[in-house]
Amino acid sequence: MPPLFDEHEQVVICHEPAVGLRAIIAIHDTTLGPALGGIRMWRYERDEEALTDVLRLSRGMTYKNALAGLNLGGGKTVVLGDPRSDKSEMQFRALGRFIDSLGGRYLAAEDVGTSTDDAEVVAVETPHITGLPTDRGGSGDPSPMTAWGVVCGMRAALAEAGLGDSFAGVRVAVQGAGHVGADVVRHLLAAGAQVTVADLYPDRVEPLVAAGAQAGDPATIHRLDCDIFSPCALGAIVRSESVGELRCRVIAGAANNQLLDDAAGDALHARGIVYAPDFAINAGGVINIADELAGGGYHPERARRSVERIAGTLTAVFSRARAEDVAPHRAANRMAEERIAAARPVAALYRRR
Ligand code: NAD
Repeated sequence: MPPLFDEHEQVVICHEPAVGLRAIIAIHDTTLGPALGGIRMWRYERDEEALTDVLRLSRGMTYKNALAGLNLGGGKTVVLGDPRSDKSEMQFRALGRFIDSLGGRYLAAEDVGTSTDDAEVVAVETPHITGLPTDRGGSGDPSPMTAWGVVCGMRAALAEAGLGDSFAGVRVAVQGAGHVGADVVRHLLAAGAQVTVADLYPDRVEPLVAAGAQAGDPATIHRLDCDIFSPCALGAIVRSESVGELRCRVIAGAANNQLLDDAAGDALHARGIVYAPDFAINAGGVINIADELAGGGYHPERARRSVERIAGTLTAVFSRARAEDVAPHRAANRMAEERIAAARPVAALYRRR
């Protein structure tokens, strides 16, 4: 496990019992700009799990934003509760006030368990929320651009694995049919791939089966014999001890923190499985949001072109990994860390606000 507090700048516990809000906001690093990261709502068994998740996710956002070339730092929020049954309007307004209290050091967005509807509720209390609907001047739900970025990145990973760059006949196992996973499946089907998809909720899989996918078992989808395993659910699903079970040539998906630790990435590399580092391939959503933040209005076509550059970023990661004889996740970490280190002297200069 990486150190729990990995030089995080600020961690805020948000508690408003009257509306049932229990949340944690973590700001990892603001060297490159305000910390951008989504709000995740999830049923954590224990508070410590939520803290671990938000610390890992916010750190991942720092690396994601840096590698994508964005002028944004890394942060994240977790809300403790079941998004299907525990969510309320006043809970998200209360969260909006906590976000507002950070004065713009943290910019929120959607993530697992939250949607543009929730973003609109947060927006009642703070301007520091992104991904608002397009008819409100925002960039909308980031998931479709995340999914498109994943598909573009998959092509680069396929090429790295020596499997060409066409999806025709390529067998893909997708874990998670939520906002991003479902869109990834649709793009892959349209491109001629053979897709198996699994989710904890069968109602998410059914429409994809109707569109041509096969339904998989959530307990075993990661072990399916396939060309690409695409994790689009939650993190820490690649572990050193279980890398031997995998039957894929490539891992390329949207989920954050797919590797339990760096050793898991090394184990993939040793087995010859091409791993597209999660924070490189799933940056489409933040790249889309960055277009909204750049000023002058959100421009969907410009955002899409920026998202498509993920393929080039991954190709650069793979070639650096080869040149330095390290696994791709280590090369991607180095590239992100170099950009942050280069910006640090600039961030330290006094600026009149
Ligand atoms: P979502 O909540 O819409 O979907 C997640 C899906 O995964 C749900 O349908 C859930 O039931 C399913 N799931 C959970 N555990 C599972 C398991 N063990 N097996 C099978 N299915 C399982 O979330 P999303 O927005 O689609 O995000 C998916 C992943 O991508 C998350 O890790 C998220 O952090 C990451 N991500 C999302 C975005 C975005 O723009 N939404 C951007 C970057 C990264």
